[in-house]
Amino acid sequence: MDAQKEYRYNHLTWEEMNQAIAMQKVVILPTGSTEQHGPHLPLDTDIFLCESVCLEAARRAPDTMLVLPPISYGLNMHHIDFPGTIHIEPEVFVAFCLNITKSVSYHGFKKILLVNGHGSNGILIDLIARKTVLETPSLCAALGYFSLALKAFEKIKDTNTLAHADEFETSLYMHLAGERVRMDRRVAGNDVEGKFLSSDSTSNYPVRFSDYWGRWTKTGVHGDPMTATAEKGKVIFEAAVAGLVQLVEEFRQWPLPKRSDQHASPVQSDIRW
Ligand SMILES: [Zn+2]
Repeated sequence: MDAQKEYRYNHLTWEEMNQAIAMQKVVILPTGSTEQHGPHLPLDTDIFLCESVCLEAARRAPDTMLVLPPISYGLNMHHIDFPGTIHIEPEVFVAFCLNITKSVSYHGFKKILLVNGHGSNGILIDLIARKTVLETPSLCAALGYFSLALKAFEKIKDTNTLAHADEFETSLYMHLAGERVRMDRRVAGNDVEGKFLSSDSTSNYPVRFSDYWGRWTKTGVHGDPMTATAEKGKVIFEAAVAGLVQLVEEFRQWPLPKRSDQHASPVQSDIRW
């Protein structure tokens, strides 16, 4: 196996890594969670769905991508009332992931993409991408994989709430590993939804708010998985994978010229933030 065909970061040797750096592959870090996903989905839902999209995109365009081992834990204290959920403090998550992006940048990769599968990590991966750009010579961008599939999902969906263990995630899981979905355990969420706020407004509400889930749901479902199908999941998967391949191509081409300093006199370059 050489760097041309291998798309899993840690399947390369250090000699092959030199090849991958010379090729300037885009390095992808999938992030997710180990978190309750209702009575019908396993705790790996966010990272399994996200990593599956990343690996399939990279399999289709192996000469342009390298996928890092995923981050399977995230900001999750709000789910802690449900057995099994693992919480990582946001400061720890940011520091840990920033150590990864900085290492990747150190080796000479210029483009790093954070692909997230867990809504509550969204603000954190934005911050990691920003800090990576400011603290390294590389470019780092961040997105939720689901954003690449929303347009396609709009056309086929039967429910309105895009949230958690819902029609979207359940459909995608059914497509990828239907045998692990406990179909007979599916229930609709008893969502509390206002005009500006919902019980968890971190996905599609203008006002950001997330309560302890133990306060408003006994099932851990937000949204409605009852209309989920594997066919819908296939549409979601294909849209997300195709979108990621396109995004990586655009990111690869994105110019990275030297910064130009407009100061007339020398700056105090020994000052560090
Ligand atoms: Zn989820």
